[in-house]
Amino acid sequence: MNILILGSGGREHTIAWKLNQSPKCNSLFVAPGNSGTAQIAKNVPISVTDFNAIKEVVLNNNITMVVVGPEDPLVQGVHDFFLTDDALKNVAVIGPQKAAATLEGSKEFAKQFLYKHNIPTAAYQSFNADTVEDGYAFLETLNPPFVLKADGLAAGKGVVILEDLDQAKAELKSMLVDAKFGDASTKVVIEEFLDGIELSCFVLTDGKNYKILPTAKDYKRIGEGDTGLNTGGMGAVSPVPFANQAFLDKVEEQVVKPTIAGLQKDDLPYKGFVFIGLIKVGDEPKVIEYNVRLGDPETEVVLPRLKNDLVEVFEAVANQTLDQIDIKVDPRAATTIMLVSGGYPEAYQKGKVITGVDAIEDSIVFHAGAQQKDNQIVTSGGRVMAITSYGETYQEAIKKSYQSIEKLHFDKMNYRKDIGFDL
Ligand code: AMP
Repeated sequence: MNILILGSGGREHTIAWKLNQSPKCNSLFVAPGNSGTAQIAKNVPISVTDFNAIKEVVLNNNITMVVVGPEDPLVQGVHDFFLTDDALKNVAVIGPQKAAATLEGSKEFAKQFLYKHNIPTAAYQSFNADTVEDGYAFLETLNPPFVLKADGLAAGKGVVILEDLDQAKAELKSMLVDAKFGDASTKVVIEEFLDGIELSCFVLTDGKNYKILPTAKDYKRIGEGDTGLNTGGMGAVSPVPFANQAFLDKVEEQVVKPTIAGLQKDDLPYKGFVFIGLIKVGDEPKVIEYNVRLGDPETEVVLPRLKNDLVEVFEAVANQTLDQIDIKVDPRAATTIMLVSGGYPEAYQKGKVITGVDAIEDSIVFHAGAQQKDNQIVTSGGRVMAITSYGETYQEAIKKSYQSIEKLHFDKMNYRKDIGFDL
């Protein structure tokens, strides 16, 4: 089978690495890809949202499966584009159709879905520019901190949490009236603050059946001790030690089952990954968000722990026979540490030469914002590469990743030194 992966991050390198292990995978293409995917697949320099260019690549290379990494093409309807084109309709697309991708594309839609299907989540109300005064009044009824969420996709920056009521009101005005996040903040969801510890649950569904994948916890802030600005993610650990079986059973009963049933009831066609962002409040799971694809860097610890042939699993998703797949998970822990460009998530320089990758033996290097240039690998983004290791315990895995990092270098390389230390 010839397979195309859309995307260019560490997540997509990991998906490529896993698919490439399958005897069923013949030729692998990644659009646009990075220096890591270039080593195991053919990179195709097209945009993930240029559907006509994707069509050409699929037809020219006899591709029969497309795996969508990021959310943008899904929210813009890449799966629907395939289904409505005679030449493409038999290609298996891993990722939900547009209607279901709205679970990530609109926070208000996700909240309505959660409420409708009785899935535990924070209380909320949503507002637009005409109802900003009602928004102020609603804020006055809440206790701080105040959680404001731009409704649409805002590259992970659309959630603002503030302690001060006046600041929260000013932020609401800036989002709704001054279009702080452009079209993404034409509506704003204000919700109750949930005090607890976060984790992510990954589910794969064919629209009828589902399989739960290993849990993971990521580290969003740039600084040690969870301080400083939010990033795309600085590291991850799987499994999550504080999520015991009793808690995971609650997640399955109260969150996963009603989510999959809700998708069916609401006629939201879904063949792909559901990433459920959870906060554990006491012993209770509450949903803070749905993402309609795998997370990055969680993928870099979740897929390495999956023992199944991923092509077979994806075929079962496409054929709606996921019930026949027995998911097998590596009992070892996996951790990943993200190396980032100095300055990230604010301004940073690109084009720095990365050395030492070939010297890594005990870890897997998943490339993210890195590109091949002449005979060298150079930085091309904020998050540069994820260093994943296995261990009998997560502490052992973390130690291995940090030891591997000592062999790697690029100018102004930065990473968090405390991944997993809070567990
Ligand atoms: P989201 O994009 O909805 O996942 O929100 C981004 C981050 O904001 C989450 O990872 C949480 O850390 C935080 N967050 C979102 N909603 C809440 C909430 N209701 N209570 C507390 N923290 C929240």
